[in-house]
Amino acid sequence: MHDKYEAVIGLEVHAQLLTESKAFCGCSTKFGNAPNTNVCPVCLGHPGVLPVLNKKVVEFTVLMGIATNCKINSRSIFARKNYFYPDLPKGYQISQYEEPICEHGFVEIELSDGSRKRIGITRIHMEEDAGKSIHDISIDTLVDVNRCGVPLIEIVSEPDMRSPEEAYLYLSKVRQIVKYLSICDGNMEEGSLRCDANISVRLKGAEKFGTKTEVKNMNSFRNVERAINYEVERQIEILEDGGQITQQTLLWNADLNEVLPMRSKEEAHDYRYFPEPDLLPVVVDENWKKEIASGLPELPDIRKKRFTEHYQIPLYDAEIITQSKGIADYYEKVTAVTSDYKAASNWIMGDVLKVINEEKIDIKDFPVSAENLGELINIINKGTISGKIAKEVFPEMLKENKSPVEIVKEKNLLQISDASELENLVLKVIGEHPSEVEQYLDGKEKVFGFFIGQIMRQTGGKANPKIVNEILRKKLGEKKIK
Ligand code: ADP
Ligand code: MG
Ligand code: ZN
Repeated sequence: MHDKYEAVIGLEVHAQLLTESKAFCGCSTKFGNAPNTNVCPVCLGHPGVLPVLNKKVVEFTVLMGIATNCKINSRSIFARKNYFYPDLPKGYQISQYEEPICEHGFVEIELSDGSRKRIGITRIHMEEDAGKSIHDISIDTLVDVNRCGVPLIEIVSEPDMRSPEEAYLYLSKVRQIVKYLSICDGNMEEGSLRCDANISVRLKGAEKFGTKTEVKNMNSFRNVERAINYEVERQIEILEDGGQITQQTLLWNADLNEVLPMRSKEEAHDYRYFPEPDLLPVVVDENWKKEIASGLPELPDIRKKRFTEHYQIPLYDAEIITQSKGIADYYEKVTAVTSDYKAASNWIMGDVLKVINEEKIDIKDFPVSAENLGELINIINKGTISGKIAKEVFPEMLKENKSPVEIVKEKNLLQISDASELENLVLKVIGEHPSEVEQYLDGKEKVFGFFIGQIMRQTGGKANPKIVNEILRKKLGEKKIK
């Protein structure tokens, strides 16, 4: 970015709520059903039908409001946002306009220099989704209205972000929170989390905001950062050339790596908002608010801090482990079985997350139970098996969730800790390699590792490394004296 300028960014994030049924009717929200089957007269907007508000939608939205430090309005109203589009059979979308349910909140992001920054949340409101148009050149435009009426929340931020990185961090934080609350699966690629970016630039130190553009259609995290970067640079270039920014809506084209203007026809917005006459105001009294708040889980930042204090693990570990609620829950289950908290975080950050990322599975479907992983750590620490053997036992545990003790027994992997047995082995290996012994006695320390390697090979890795180390050092030392 040009040094003279700074970016000003505000995001509008849509999150699809994980309710079983739609916002105003009983139709299923299930993704992937045959097109146009999750429908009824209400979500199709037939004449004479009445919407009925899904209570869960309110609860999820209030939960998000509480988690993002918003004021929860005791009274809010729905509005009709009118526009014509083939995937919106009603001809309007039920949304909230003038009196949204949540306002004036904030989330905190952590910048790369470690400092924290508050990003204001202007409002969070409830609304319903529209259907999907599928533009297939070889056939025609197809419409699937299954998504009509699926509940969304829109989270509108203040124009508080000053770089594409900050926008990325903010979006990540919002995603992390909705996932922690289990109100949205946070999947950008599948469209359950969507983001529009409002972007302007101004000279550093200037007070007035510049003219903004709005970039839509960024369907991955990577694209959000890239699109904002692109648009910021584009605006700076125009200003540097003495031009002016035109307020417009742009679409990010991931294939071309650039933003393109939306056709102006689609952009001429006058939604003619008016209060939805078929729905009563939403009233959230203190009692209900308290009840919803009691279901608030420990939020990621607080949990991260607790992990560093209670389990004494590094901030780096805590950061990774609390990234997802499922992983953090798994960690706490492991630490209920073993008191080696650091080993637990090592195993999760390493072997567990590796499998989860490679197989693209959820921790819920991870084949090794937390109890068994905890037990594995315990038998390493007790000396039943070595850390090296543990790396052989773990893949067996992945195959079927068996207790590590059972696997060790079945595969005869018990660690050899018997001193006299190991002493014999050490003497045997020393006897077999006189020239290496010479080298060691000549001061070649490295040869020590060679002997360890030999002993490990002969025992199939089962020799207790600590004891072997001691005996080997002692025996080689005795040679030195002779
Ligand atoms: P509009 O009326 O065009 O929808 P809003 O005032 O509702 O604009 O703001 C929409 C979003 O744009 C908000 O996230 C807000 O923070 C952001 N925004 C407002 N003004 C600017 C600006 N000058 N530059 C960047 N973002 C802005
Ligand atoms: Mg707006
Ligand atoms: Zn319906």
